[in-house]
Amino acid sequence: MAEAPMDRCLLEICNLDAGYGKLQILRSVCLQAAEQEIIGIIGANGAGKTTVLKAVMNLADIMGGEIYFRGTLLNRKAWYKIARMGIAFVPQKREIFSPLTVLENLEIGAYRILGNKSEMRSNLARVLEFFPQLQGKLALKAGVLSGGEQKMLSIARGLMGSPEVLLLDEPSLGLAPAVAEALFEGIRFIAQGHPSLKALLVVEQNAFLALEIAHRGYVLEGGRVVLVGSSQELLTNPHVKAAYLTA
Ligand code: ATP
Repeated sequence: MAEAPMDRCLLEICNLDAGYGKLQILRSVCLQAAEQEIIGIIGANGAGKTTVLKAVMNLADIMGGEIYFRGTLLNRKAWYKIARMGIAFVPQKREIFSPLTVLENLEIGAYRILGNKSEMRSNLARVLEFFPQLQGKLALKAGVLSGGEQKMLSIARGLMGSPEVLLLDEPSLGLAPAVAEALFEGIRFIAQGHPSLKALLVVEQNAFLALEIAHRGYVLEGGRVVLVGSSQELLTNPHVKAAYLTA
């Protein structure tokens, strides 16, 4: 994806309060993702990063505020309807179907475009181009893949349904640094080359990895957005450097 034209807002979160039951986690969170934009959401453990993505999918409890996708209010829509609208969520745990083959896992991801065999075929070819490591493993049970390959599979499965927005939760979690870097290269490649994809939101504890591929970033602390800026601004911001970029 190229640089972000901010006048073409695709996903808009306005003054979001959200949490779980009576427990409020997010407070007045505002976030926008424009077409062609990669957004990094960074912050410490428990800051509420995952909850932002879950709220978009209506998997967390929304207590106030609004979430719009292409101007349509998402609040109170069931998660599967939100997915059908074109938002794919790749959770932080590799929620793959271990007893099924890699190919079957990928086919499940294409439920949104079931019936469109040619789009399914071209999406399959494309995700294998993004993640060539999966190419020779289509017939294997997904459970035997390495941790990094399972992450690739879960992202590839998210892409199989031609989403417009991809929400990635902690893709680097549990991966060795070199594997995480390779995965982020794949993510950057996807963002530039997937025809349906218009915006990508990536939640990461590894702020450097996220900001390296993002156009803009949001820093969450205690459920609030405390900083917003271009990735370059955030990478050089003294607070971000001290809190999130030291080894
Ligand atoms: P991490 O980087 O550790 O994944 P995060 O910034 O993504 O953290 P969240 O997963 O959004 O943070 O969690 C924010 C807070 O919400 C945490 O205190 C967590 O314990 C709490 N929380 C998360 N899920 C639930 C749930 N289903 N029920 C109750 N509390 C929850």
